[in-house]
Amino acid sequence: MKMLEEKIAKDGIVIGSDILKVDSFLNHQMDVALFEEMGKEWKRLFASKPINKILTIEASGIGIACLVAREFHCPVVFAKKSKSRNVGNDVYSAQVFSFTHGNTNDIIVSKKYLGPEDHLLLIDDFLANGEALRGLISVADQAGATVEGIGIAIEKAFQNGGKEIRAMGYQVESLARIAAMNEKDGISFTD
Ligand code: 5GP
Repeated sequence: MKMLEEKIAKDGIVIGSDILKVDSFLNHQMDVALFEEMGKEWKRLFASKPINKILTIEASGIGIACLVAREFHCPVVFAKKSKSRNVGNDVYSAQVFSFTHGNTNDIIVSKKYLGPEDHLLLIDDFLANGEALRGLISVADQAGATVEGIGIAIEKAFQNGGKEIRAMGYQVESLARIAAMNEKDGISFTD
């Protein structure tokens, strides 16, 4: 998606060789008009799918997911990061290793808000090694819900998550795919 790639090229800050900071429009301040265009693009890409719920993970997925939900006329459920390991019987849970923070969180979703009747579009801001998505897929599986597709804002295609999640059979639509990046040469996108 040209608009997102241009924004990343203009305002993204590369840290080392594998972290991209996009705080000015996505991870801290949010460009809601851009999110709206992203929502429309995923609506176009998943138009044939019977999506009735958006599933994302706190915190950065939530803002994007809300604009996506406007397009699909459905609710958003976000997985909460739980500090307590005693997660209880009324939730689905999974462990997610955080690429950016280097720690493991339990994520939980209440059984009230996800079930076998749900056809999900998973949304997240970044795809790196696929840990966050594997956690969301696990939660969806526990609920007996169907994952109809996955929408990612920024895929770092030089990391393995995208390849692995697609190999599991999921339709992953990333609106910007970064082929390579570093502090000196900047960012290049896949064709
Ligand atoms: P994964 O679970 O695929 O390894 O990493 C994706 C998650 O880590 C996303 O939910 C995102 O919050 C975070 N993440 C991974 N790489 C980056 C990055 O380069 N920049 C930012 N801002 N977040 C990232």
